[in-house]
Amino acid sequence: MEADKLMLSCSCGSIKGHVSGINPRLGNRIKCYCNDCRRFVSMFEEGKKYIDQQGGSEILQVPPSHVKIDEGKEHLGCLKLSDKGLHRWYSNCCKTPLFNTAGLKIPFVGIFGHFIEDEHYEAHVGPVLGGVFKDSSLTPIVNKIGLNYSKPRILSRMAFQLVTWKVSGKSQPNCLYESSGKAIVKPEIVKNIAS
Ligand SMILES: [Zn+2]
Ligand SMILES: [Zn+2]
Repeated sequence: MEADKLMLSCSCGSIKGHVSGINPRLGNRIKCYCNDCRRFVSMFEEGKKYIDQQGGSEILQVPPSHVKIDEGKEHLGCLKLSDKGLHRWYSNCCKTPLFNTAGLKIPFVGIFGHFIEDEHYEAHVGPVLGGVFKDSSLTPIVNKIGLNYSKPRILSRMAFQLVTWKVSGKSQPNCLYESSGKAIVKPEIVKNIAS
């Protein structure tokens, strides 16, 4: 195992990938409590298992050029919860939530915690920074979340990173998009699912 590689695998192991150059400063490890992430993850049995008691999902946001799918690309599924929403990627083989992305122009890949299979996860990515969209949690959040960064602090860190990733050439290649900007799997629009 290489020291700076974070290994990714769906539950059944058909889709495998990795994040290269991983270290705790590379991206943002957060918990998202928004309704859409919860709706998406809850569509799948494998997803439900990983939602925390307050309805949050763990997401690691990293620059696109660091993410590679090594095996099983043919099992990728993609959907959107609204016409304008994020691309939400899952595995067709075992219905594991995999990624959130927002096209080539907003260069990040959000990796769902479900897809990370790495015994050195903690050492590679460091602690959860904090939670975002905590107002949408299922029950009030009274406990501390990770380092408890505030949402503005997480969002400003992320905005800064998006610009840095763009200017430093980390926004492409993005293994989930063709160079034209088209997602490699046509997203199905899935509306009206309950959270
Ligand atoms: Zn699978
Ligand atoms: Zn979310």
